[in-house]
Amino acid sequence: MPTIRILPDRVANQIAAGEVIERPAAVVKELVENSLDAGATRIEVEFRSGGSAYIRVEDNGPGLTRDDALLALERHATSKIAEAADLDRLATFGFRGEALPSIASVSRFELQTRPAGAEGGTEILVNGGKFVHVRDCGRPVGTRIVVSHLFNSVPARRKFLKSDATESAHIIHCVRLYALACPQAAFNLVEDGRVIFRSPECATTAERVAEIFGRQTAESLLAIEAAEAGLRLTGLVGRPGAGRATRHEMITFVNRRPVDSRTLSYALIESYHEALPKGRYPLAFLFLEIDPAAVDVNVHPAKREVRFRAEAQVRAFVMRVVLSRLRALGAETVPAAVATGGPAGAAPADPVESRIAAPFPAYRPLSPPVPAAEADPRAAVPAPAPGLRTSWRFVGVVRGTYAVFDTAAGLVLLDRRAARERIWYERLRAQFATGRVGSQRLLLPVPVELDAIMTALLTDRLEFLNGHGFEIAGFGRNFFRVEAVPEWMEPSDAEAFLRDLVGALREGLLGARDLDLARDELARLAAARAVRMPDAAGETEMNFLVNQLFSCRQPLTSPAGKPTFIELSHGEIDRRFQK
Ligand code: ADP
Ligand code: MG
Repeated sequence: MPTIRILPDRVANQIAAGEVIERPAAVVKELVENSLDAGATRIEVEFRSGGSAYIRVEDNGPGLTRDDALLALERHATSKIAEAADLDRLATFGFRGEALPSIASVSRFELQTRPAGAEGGTEILVNGGKFVHVRDCGRPVGTRIVVSHLFNSVPARRKFLKSDATESAHIIHCVRLYALACPQAAFNLVEDGRVIFRSPECATTAERVAEIFGRQTAESLLAIEAAEAGLRLTGLVGRPGAGRATRHEMITFVNRRPVDSRTLSYALIESYHEALPKGRYPLAFLFLEIDPAAVDVNVHPAKREVRFRAEAQVRAFVMRVVLSRLRALGAETVPAAVATGGPAGAAPADPVESRIAAPFPAYRPLSPPVPAAEADPRAAVPAPAPGLRTSWRFVGVVRGTYAVFDTAAGLVLLDRRAARERIWYERLRAQFATGRVGSQRLLLPVPVELDAIMTALLTDRLEFLNGHGFEIAGFGRNFFRVEAVPEWMEPSDAEAFLRDLVGALREGLLGARDLDLARDELARLAAARAVRMPDAAGETEMNFLVNQLFSCRQPLTSPAGKPTFIELSHGEIDRRFQK
């Protein structure tokens, strides 16, 4: 018969740690939450090597007595709730009393703390869940926790850690979230001795955003504020057109807790349906306040995910507020002449948006921008593949996107965008390989402000980019000046492209040591960006496009691997008509 045992605390803690402490950023999250819960107004976070070697979180909160500090390391020891019903009126981040013992069970955990009025402080050291010592120490009022050798005792966990750069990005993102959630506390974030950001107390979210995401981002935002039947929404959302390539800057809070919520993300994306081009994500810092009893935060061990009892109501409310803010803006700024001129009155609402919505200036000759001395550009256009596609007869364009051709074998639908991406991609690859990347100097250099982590990422790849058509120089803290851009780029796109690029760097793209791989990724990004719709789509242009496509090495797919065209054979067409 199996013997049933109660697990020793140390084992139970390690198991709990498996759920709560999945990576170094989770340690940072739990410790920062504790500092904020304790009412600290100054929090400093320092980490090394992506956090697995060293994490320090230090605050000026009220500190703990020796007895309380020892108790805090016991499982389910919490000062925050006394009974399950308290969960419905939760005002703190923590409540399970699991974080400290869990962290201490999988690291070398050193806690120093001193309450106000006490002579000195207490130091407690726990190593891999084993108590080592408790003794007096000197320190100011507040609490300092140092977590080192994370997961050393749990090799299985350690194996799951990603690169230091990735783990570090998670930590930085996490500290930013809490800095946004609590602008009234001062935050310092230091990585490997370098200050990532240092923000004093801020009176408003807008100020905090400017501190940690930069003035430029802050200036592209609109304030919102609205309330209705038990719901209140405040915060900042991007102006129409100010989108991002990733979801990283779509940040939502529920009752001040940073959360992932499908309901909120969906409401945001939907609200921007007309205000952003396809594939771009809104920029948002949204705070929803709702009766804690109407939201369940206890669905995920790390409490990141929330569920609303009245999901449809929340979604509709958020969409109403955001949409009416965007529409009100349109009414404020659209000149009357434009407002009536656009299709169905949906004229671009501001200069940013109109820039993005603007048609491609003219049909771009699809000739590679080789130096004039090299060759007549037209001569460099590869000749149509002999015979092969000359039988394609252009019929028309449907839905602005697909060019229809009548061929000897049936019908062809060509995705113009995919085709042009393929052509650009191969052209850029060829240019990069020969090292002859055309560059155009900007009349007015474009300043771009980034936050500290983005700055670090871009600085690392600056030489690479400057070797591929850009001229970007750093100046001052977190500022760059774009002085020249590759020939294929619209100068007015410089800033947006650079932000996409840094977004890609953050996703781990272009970071490859392998030059060829990095070039490949750059060409992919550039191709997606270089192609703008709509442009002229007459017979001449379409034939030209087809010829260009078929002189590519891989004409059948876009750089992203999607088909450039599909064919319907006569047989297939007859079959569909049941002939
Ligand atoms: P929880 O936050 O769920 O209560 P934790 O294990 O994170 O559980 O913390 C246990 C207790 O330790 C908290 O309830 C709090 O009383 C105390 N504590 C933790 N960190 C701090 C801190 N930085 N300052 C003051 N008290 C703290
Ligand atoms: Mg806690």
